[in-house]
Amino acid sequence: MTTLNFTLEEALTKLKSGEVSSVELTKDCLKAIEAQKDLNAFLEVTEEHALGQAQASDEKRSKGDAGLLEGIPLAIKDLFCTKGFRTTAGSHMLENFVAPYESTVTQGLWDAGAVMLGKTNMDEFAMGSSNETSYFGPAKSPWKSKEHSQDITAGGSSGGSSSAVAARLCFGATGSDTGGSIRQPAAFTGIVGLKPTYGRCSRWGMVSFASSLDQAGPLTRSVRDSALMLQATAGYDPKDSTSAKVETPDFMSAFTGDIRGLRVGIPKEYRVDNMPQEIDAHWVKCADYLKAAGAEVVEVSLPHTSYALPTYYIIAPAEASSNLARYDGVRYGLRVEEGDSLDDMYTATRTAGFGDEVKQRIMIGTYVLSAGYYDAFFVKALKVRRLIRQDFDQAFEKVDVLLTPTAPSTAFALGNKDKDPIAMYLNDVFTVPASLAGMPAISLPSGIAQDGLPLGMQLIG
Ligand code: GLN
Repeated sequence: MTTLNFTLEEALTKLKSGEVSSVELTKDCLKAIEAQKDLNAFLEVTEEHALGQAQASDEKRSKGDAGLLEGIPLAIKDLFCTKGFRTTAGSHMLENFVAPYESTVTQGLWDAGAVMLGKTNMDEFAMGSSNETSYFGPAKSPWKSKEHSQDITAGGSSGGSSSAVAARLCFGATGSDTGGSIRQPAAFTGIVGLKPTYGRCSRWGMVSFASSLDQAGPLTRSVRDSALMLQATAGYDPKDSTSAKVETPDFMSAFTGDIRGLRVGIPKEYRVDNMPQEIDAHWVKCADYLKAAGAEVVEVSLPHTSYALPTYYIIAPAEASSNLARYDGVRYGLRVEEGDSLDDMYTATRTAGFGDEVKQRIMIGTYVLSAGYYDAFFVKALKVRRLIRQDFDQAFEKVDVLLTPTAPSTAFALGNKDKDPIAMYLNDVFTVPASLAGMPAISLPSGIAQDGLPLGMQLIG
């Protein structure tokens, strides 16, 4: 029997009833990972560690001492520090970096009894929408298009995690979302991706990209599975000053199955130019599903939507340029000794350690923060961000949630957009507004397009 088709919750039920053991689940996953190596979903498989954890978990359960995720094998995006294992962030810069401590989010998973299968592929420092900026080559989607035979992107930047969950190599995975990196890969691979409210999960031990936007969250095959993973990872953490000091609710109790009276907003500005007719029609169909289940669907306006993408692509690089200044060949990771001076060493290290996309963003970020342009770009972007946030606040006076597509297209072929940064950035058009406003948002698998690839819909809370 293969256990791999179980959702995380089903696997938990089987573990509880004794039908399967964690060792069995873990071995099935490890076998599948090996068989599907071509997907390049994992940068490292921590096989021995996983089997050890699984065995310990089975023993724990037999003593009647089971955590929330006891015995569940999971995959971890390679930007969460995992003590004693490499954390590369998809970069040459950190290729051999072994974290001396564990991130709060992963610690939460291990405390709940989960098993670590390995670390998943990602765009370099989480900058990208297709996994193609990874120093280790892109992760691939397990899906195939009906229209061509090229490999399909698993999305980005959490593409290794989305590929692994969609291909049933694990029961869930962690991701991080700065401008869409959990939701877009989930949409592209037909799974669930949840970006929690900013501050809900600690960022301690996550490699930073843009600190005012980065959030950890789960990628799973069901919404209930997302709730379980969120339960284990959410909560106030004094080690992260941006972590919110609020009670963690019991997320599972929210599943009443009843959405009668729920007010769902359709933001009219999300009907962007050049959106494929198919996605538009799908959006209408999904709104009708909600109506049929008793929700009230109304149009709302988020007038500053069109400024979200340019605002994001100023703020995110600005923060990145500052965060990535720490990779200087002295404190972390790679060091290239060249020339006679300290400056020569910095230059050689950063030239060799970063890929093109990361360098481009560091340059844009440094430019918009520089004395002459700070007010014109960075401060302006912060002001627009505030207006975007106000749009949401106003909309949420009228509605409970917003329904939008997650991405303006289905997953594209690898190699298709990687030469044109603007085309790549446009992919984030529906995900960045919620990120800028700090809102929680989830991408749900909601259908199959004509090209045979999954469509995702986003709910913003
Ligand atoms: N695709 C977006 C970017 O490249 C979002 C990345 C992310 O959320 N980490 O910045």
